[in-house]
Amino acid sequence: MTWSVHCSQCGRVYDDDAVRFRCDCGGVLDLLFEPHFDPGTVAGRPHDLWRYREALPVGRDVVTMGGGCTPLLTVAFHTATLLVKQEQLFPTGSYKDRGAALLISHLHELGVRRVVEDSSGNAGCAVAAYAARAGIACDIYVPADTSPAKTAQIEAYGATLHRIPGPREETAEAALEAATTCAYASHVYSPWFLQGTKTFAYEIAEQLGWTVPDTLVLPAGNGTLLLGAFIGFEEMRWAGIVDQMPRLIAVQAAACAPLADAFAKGMERPAEVHATHTAAEGIAIAAPARGAQVLAAVRATGGSFLAVSEQEIAASLKECCLGGWFIEPTSAAVIAGACRYAETAAPGETIVTAFTGHGLKAAAKIAEILTQR
Ligand SMILES: *Cc1c(COP(=O)(O)O)cnc(C)c1O
Ligand SMILES: [Zn+2]
Repeated sequence: MTWSVHCSQCGRVYDDDAVRFRCDCGGVLDLLFEPHFDPGTVAGRPHDLWRYREALPVGRDVVTMGGGCTPLLTVAFHTATLLVKQEQLFPTGSYKDRGAALLISHLHELGVRRVVEDSSGNAGCAVAAYAARAGIACDIYVPADTSPAKTAQIEAYGATLHRIPGPREETAEAALEAATTCAYASHVYSPWFLQGTKTFAYEIAEQLGWTVPDTLVLPAGNGTLLLGAFIGFEEMRWAGIVDQMPRLIAVQAAACAPLADAFAKGMERPAEVHATHTAAEGIAIAAPARGAQVLAAVRATGGSFLAVSEQEIAASLKECCLGGWFIEPTSAAVIAGACRYAETAAPGETIVTAFTGHGLKAAAKIAEILTQR
């Protein structure tokens, strides 16, 4: 299996020592890897994300809890009918399991004994869980106002939790400082995380009979699911498995929309924004490190950005819950965006979106939002 790590900005190639997380020029690192994957081989394999193992740059001794192959269900909302991938069903309660499974498998292969990660919650839960499975010690940095269910979950896995006051950026800085001496298992910087989230694309293609939906509506905070999906569909197109790319529609909260703003202004990098509070804590990222890549991916597919209001998020959350879908407020923001997009879609357009995280992660917050309405 051959792969290399290179800078997305200047192209410089690096050995992967698990400690370096970006190029000396400041650029984020990408993984160059050309999979040799044949859809004909997956029949009969277990229904988890490792059924696409020839497309994944790790060996056979993987760290797994059997996650993956989440159902792709038709869900009727009052304004639209969408295909919704049930990512809240992963062992840690969000799609972050995909990235953490790959990243921790890779670090385990390298013999790493200790990792650091920072997260607004779910990535920390996933990294802590897979590190626990692998017997890797783990320090997780979170903003002080992270949902109690998420911090409890992180600590339950045996990780050391560090609550950092102030804006999200302070948390990232504290983690960076800690990561100068051990592996930085960053869902944002590590290109291995995206090798995991790309299985989202492989699953959708298989579930649609190795075809591509017209449109994918996905969250864009740091864009870890969106970029993974983009990589996955591109690989399948290069390999001739599918013949086109889905249009990518990226959803942000209007309260924190540096990418939607940049897209509207024709900029290539995230816009500077004054973020205000949003119920969609999972996508409240004011300065996304891979923002330029997210903008480029959306443009390359002829897609666009949507920014949803707090009222839309609350209304969507209520509709989902009353329909039996207990999902995080962040996930409701994505569904609000998908329903808004669907109003402008062509008749018969196949639109795939996701329930990204489980409501049990934020039960108190959900109760608060629903009683305010
Ligand atoms: C992480 C997360 C998102 C957004 O992912 P980004 O990588 O920041 O775009 C959306 N929903 C949930 C539940 C998440 O945990
Ligand atoms: Zn560089």
